[in-house]
Amino acid sequence: MILNETEIGAGTETPHGWKCRTCGSEDLLFDAYAEWDRENQVFTVQSLFDACECVACGGETKAVRFELAAEAGAP
Ligand SMILES: [Zn+2]
Repeated sequence: MILNETEIGAGTETPHGWKCRTCGSEDLLFDAYAEWDRENQVFTVQSLFDACECVACGGETKAVRFELAAEAGAP
């Protein structure tokens, strides 16, 4: 399954992070297609898949989006 832009978080203004649904670690590796941008000399993510790997769990997991402001709590 390919995520749409809203699910990826592109274009949203709220700072957010992704964490493992199983253990809560943010050490995640996402499956994606990258394409070469010759003008800017960088790879850009063309498609991001919902499957991702948690380094802490050592296996496939589901990423959960969370807003950074909510996590920071009171100032
Ligand atoms: Zn995990």
